[in-house]
Amino acid sequence: MHDHDHEHGSELSDLQLRVRALETILTEKGYIDPATLDAVVDAYETKIGPHRGARVVAKAWADPEFKRALLADATGAITAAKMFERISDHLIAVANSAQQHNVVVCTLCSCYPWDMLGLPPVWYKSAPYRSRAVSDPRGVLREFGVELPAETQFRVWDATAETRFIVVPMRPAGTEGWSEEKLATLVTRNAMIGTGLPVAPGAAR
Ligand code: FE
Repeated sequence: MHDHDHEHGSELSDLQLRVRALETILTEKGYIDPATLDAVVDAYETKIGPHRGARVVAKAWADPEFKRALLADATGAITAAKMFERISDHLIAVANSAQQHNVVVCTLCSCYPWDMLGLPPVWYKSAPYRSRAVSDPRGVLREFGVELPAETQFRVWDATAETRFIVVPMRPAGTEGWSEEKLATLVTRNAMIGTGLPVAPGAAR
């Protein structure tokens, strides 16, 4: 299956060839419109990305009422705030504190909050991350360059096809009075997965 040395007579991988064949058949049978498919792919490549999650986190930092609603029912709170056209995932937001740091993983495959973060990074789908995020979250964070205080507890959340998670990191000190737009520039994708922290205010553009 995973023999990368054999000749395809093509630059495409087995997977790409399978996807192309499937798309061709579905198009010929009239099940899909290639233009619609292109629009969906384009949306996830260019329009839907971590900037959406960053807006949600920034709003939670700036608005305690929204944060309460978000932690109680993330999909409902984001929908009620009319921030985006639609949220299809059942989304759960988990907030970091000095006592608890949250990390999101999908131990089975690669379930990920696409609506909030766009396409998942390659490492998120890797077997080492999927196993070590559970067995050694502190070690995983260290590899991402993050060292948390010894007293901080880790809580690992296992995403599924039905339930996706987004981490609300702690609001960085020194951001008092910042607008939501400015706050959002500090919120990285990894901070919302739990494998990173927000950018320090001094390092922001
Ligand atoms: Fe999965």
